[in-house]
Amino acid sequence: MNIENVVIAGSGPAGLTSAIYTARAGLKPVVIEGNQPGGQITLTTTIENYPGFPEGVNGFELVERMKQQAERHGARFISSEVVSVNFKTSPFSVKLADATELQTKTMIIATGASPRYLGLKSEKELIGKGVSTCATCDGAFFRNRPVTVVGGGDSAMEEALFLATLASSVTIIHRRDKFRASKIMTERVLANPKIKVEWNSVVTEILDVTKQEVTAVRIKNVQTGKEFMLPTSAVFIAIGHIPNTQPFQGILELDAEGFIITTRTRTSIPGVFAAGDVQDPMYRQVATAVGSGCMAALEVQRYLTETSK
Ligand code: NAP
Repeated sequence: MNIENVVIAGSGPAGLTSAIYTARAGLKPVVIEGNQPGGQITLTTTIENYPGFPEGVNGFELVERMKQQAERHGARFISSEVVSVNFKTSPFSVKLADATELQTKTMIIATGASPRYLGLKSEKELIGKGVSTCATCDGAFFRNRPVTVVGGGDSAMEEALFLATLASSVTIIHRRDKFRASKIMTERVLANPKIKVEWNSVVTEILDVTKQEVTAVRIKNVQTGKEFMLPTSAVFIAIGHIPNTQPFQGILELDAEGFIITTRTRTSIPGVFAAGDVQDPMYRQVATAVGSGCMAALEVQRYLTETSK
């Protein structure tokens, strides 16, 4: 069986940057694209804070360009996802969902993170029927209708601002009396006449499971304990993300939330590196993902040089 120099799991900005750097270094990286090629950034609207784009840049376009750059330098892409790994063997073994098994000297894990849900039974039953984690994907279905956003971070602000361009009204439901989001995003939201905020409030139920469509949310004020029904056509959940570390549990050192613990992108196993959101509970920006993808690629080169001496 062919032994790869480096297998990169994930094709978001971190994985693609690792691919560009390792490809340019002549390592012929193999990129496993994962179940969302391009990663979370493909679901976002315009990215305004990625350096070099004064007018902003479309997320999908940005990763597409990164992919082209990686391919031009010799990266190979496989449309599948990693289901299990064996880091006890040398070379490592990586099994994919399509039953392919790869052998590799090193691995970069850049599998990103997935949206967190509230955990309500009604929420699960209404996913795709009014419950969504992506306003850019599903917002247009609710044109001129009232919608709700849950969360108080930058993602919730971004979703609400985007939805305000389509929906008749947007209500943000946030569990505290202050947003976690950046000042600029908070100010934009609070200045938007189409957006209203229910502070100190949580969603206790999403209706109507019987009708199989979202018609209302039951909201509880956590300070007064009072509950009331808010009619809405959709609920966009924007309450953060969970790292995609399923295949690595019990194998790599993870923190309490499941993020891979790294030191300069090195994981607890020599030869295995991690980059981007999967190892970053703090910053989660395109710029930091790109930076750590570059670091992981340089660490791979260093490791291969040292181990081939
Ligand atoms: P986040 O910053 O972790 O915010 C999550 C929000 O959801 C918080 O307000 C949190 O409430 C709330 N929340 C968490 N669990 C909840 C639950 N079970 N029920 C109700 N509410 C819950 O996540 P994010 O907004 O996805 O942002 C992640 C990172 O990406 C951040 O660093 C952010 O700055 C960045 N980002 C940046 C941009 C931009 O710059 N344009 C856009 C999107 C994301 P509490 O506040 O009470 O904890």
